[in-house]
Amino acid sequence: MSEPNTPESNEVREIRTNPIVPSESVLVATARSMRPKKAEELAPRDTRKHVETCPFCRGNEHKTPPLILAVPPEGDWNIRMVENLYPVLGDDRSQANFTFGLQQTIDGYGRHEVIIDHHEHGIAIHEMAEDHLATLFGVYQLRMRQLFALDERLKYVLVFKNFGPAAGASIPHTHSQVIAMPVVPENVDAEVKNSAAHFAKHHHCIFCALIDEALTFEATIYDRSSGAVRRKINVGQYVVERGEKFIAIKPFASRYEWEVHILPLEHQADFVDVRAEDMADLARVMKRTMARLDAVIGGAQYNFFLHSVPHDAKREAHAPSYHWHLEICPRTSIPTGFELGSGLFVNTVNPEQAAERLRAVEL
Ligand SMILES: [Zn+2]
Ligand SMILES: [Zn+2]
Ligand SMILES: [Zn+2]
Repeated sequence: MSEPNTPESNEVREIRTNPIVPSESVLVATARSMRPKKAEELAPRDTRKHVETCPFCRGNEHKTPPLILAVPPEGDWNIRMVENLYPVLGDDRSQANFTFGLQQTIDGYGRHEVIIDHHEHGIAIHEMAEDHLATLFGVYQLRMRQLFALDERLKYVLVFKNFGPAAGASIPHTHSQVIAMPVVPENVDAEVKNSAAHFAKHHHCIFCALIDEALTFEATIYDRSSGAVRRKINVGQYVVERGEKFIAIKPFASRYEWEVHILPLEHQADFVDVRAEDMADLARVMKRTMARLDAVIGGAQYNFFLHSVPHDAKREAHAPSYHWHLEICPRTSIPTGFELGSGLFVNTVNPEQAAERLRAVEL
């Protein structure tokens, strides 16, 4: 429930600072005349179930690079992990997709692997069964554990997904990627350091504080004579989806119009520590969040990134202050020269209204 607003009062033009990384700002400019960029004409994503010539479709297993693991291991697989044919590490072609210090890893000993998320070629996350998604998150976690155990010089394992041509997916078959690297990506490093500084000052995790705020921010308006509740406003203003263990939140300073973050409700620094029995709830929150995004945007093309505490020398020290999360960034507009040049993101949809529209989707 929210307070009724007139169209004029919905217009927002303000600079918002990312509470976790204060050096990052977003210009929220919703007035039509203020819009500095155009909506992107999305190329349609490939929705076919099976493509004869696709190396990631069943029956073409011999066309993929060497297998790392398959689920199930025998017979018709549902998820497959293979080495990357065009690894970003040692290859300078794909760097444009990355904003962090990947350059530093080029000469390193990182690994780049591909997870074929589903045997159906063009299936979207929200179309996958919940138990399949839970298994997929389990595969992410298993591989993170294996890679950290394999080589202690690896400090970060980045799991991410590009879905749809707008998000830079080069192979249309649905897949995720895993990059294990000897350095911590710059944006994760900034989150880790800033949340540690916040913890030192306030003695609590800033991510937990943001979840509490999202859950408890509300105002109740009572009828003066009868004392009855007349209406509640702004209840859970930033909450998009809530499960038993996980929550999907629209960040106050969202860089992208439809950006949503998923976090564990209870403090947890490392994705590697998620209990197997909690994966079903994570899958449910993810599936419902993606269904909401897909309905509102009309076919979501997105990048998502898993941010978890780095396995460096300070892992233990950062465990109380860092909180893992999944950042989902749907691509609906092309960054302008202004954004690229200034580093200031421009968001043309008021995050509070975006959250409201996402919540309003009937599932
Ligand atoms: Zn395919
Ligand atoms: Zn926390
Ligand atoms: Zn993050």
